[in-house]
Amino acid sequence: MPSENERVLVTGASGYIASYIVRDLLAEGYTVRGTVRDPNKVAELAHLRAMPGAPERLELVAADLLTPGAFDPHMSGCATVMHTASPYKMDVKDPQKDLVEPALLGTQNVLEAVARSSTVKRVVLTSSMAAITDEPDENHVLTEADWNTKSSLDRNPYYYSKTLAEREAWAIVERLRPAWDLVVINPFLVIGPALTKALNPSNQVFADMLSGVYPGIMNIVWGFVDVRDVARAHVLAMTTPAANGRYICAGDRVAMRELTELLRANGYGEGYKLPKIGLDCATGDFIVKLSSYMQPKGVGDYLRSHVGRVPNYDNGKIQRDLGLRFRDAKTSVLESVADLIRWGHVKPAARPAAH
Ligand code: NAP
Repeated sequence: MPSENERVLVTGASGYIASYIVRDLLAEGYTVRGTVRDPNKVAELAHLRAMPGAPERLELVAADLLTPGAFDPHMSGCATVMHTASPYKMDVKDPQKDLVEPALLGTQNVLEAVARSSTVKRVVLTSSMAAITDEPDENHVLTEADWNTKSSLDRNPYYYSKTLAEREAWAIVERLRPAWDLVVINPFLVIGPALTKALNPSNQVFADMLSGVYPGIMNIVWGFVDVRDVARAHVLAMTTPAANGRYICAGDRVAMRELTELLRANGYGEGYKLPKIGLDCATGDFIVKLSSYMQPKGVGDYLRSHVGRVPNYDNGKIQRDLGLRFRDAKTSVLESVADLIRWGHVKPAARPAAH
């Protein structure tokens, strides 16, 4: 059990991943200070306030990533800072303003506040596989030594924002050589049940597959990780003294065809609009890439850099150093889909009336 005063600051506490981090920290007896943009939003924060331990040990405070000095007053008494807040959107109007500025200035803002604090010993930063690659190559096994060098404001700008933010975090550590250390978690596509109605872009993939958004089965392979494992990784990164550097946080790879078959075999065939046409072949790749120019820019970028490519990664470091074990991805997929129906993001199939 942590000591009574062991306080953890979690930025973006109401987010999909952060909500689970807060839940796990409270369950383990920590005192949590969560930053949100607006602590007066009652409905959006109700799930946090209802968590066991929250009335005694959860405080929600206001901080915007773009406001200089906003995090300074919240560092007091915190031994660990988990910096998760960053916009996660594939399609934005202005990539510089909507993605890069909050990601980069937010990281500077939070880490500069840490540097001015006298209590913080470790920062756990939520980066992404997006900071490792933006165009997977099956012949190259990705490790923590890899960096995304291809994204830009004009190509996969979300990936660019995550790369710039993580690079900046390491640059600050290099420059200041501080008494606190930095541990980074790099999750792949995070899936699994949500604690709120908000639909995360990663679970949106399943909602789209079931609702007929994808005309065909594309040659896409995803690396999935369950949101509960990602939260656990953050807590282990805090509690494991020897944790260091970056950690690829990704479980099984699943191809769109396997995913379609899994969903069909589990009762999501009839009454749903799963993709049927097989586009997972060389001709299909060509068609998908050509038609990607008719998609919103973010989706188009993603398709052009991922279709026909299989991500290959080594997830051994997080298992060895932190003892993290990944859930089975297919079970997480089915739990995600049941949850999408529960929250009303996917309409359940109408069942024939019983006679
Ligand atoms: P999310 O639910 O959208 O959480 C993002 C959080 O960032 C929200 O709490 C949001 O606050 C906060 N935020 C955004 N702009 C902000 C600003 N200007 N000031 C203060 N807070 C701001 O998405 P998530 O999936 O949990 O993402 C959490 C972290 O995980 C992000 O760093 C993301 O890049 C990373 N990640 C996600 C995935 C994935 O597949 N989901 C994979 C790899 C890495 P509001 O609620 O006020 O908007």
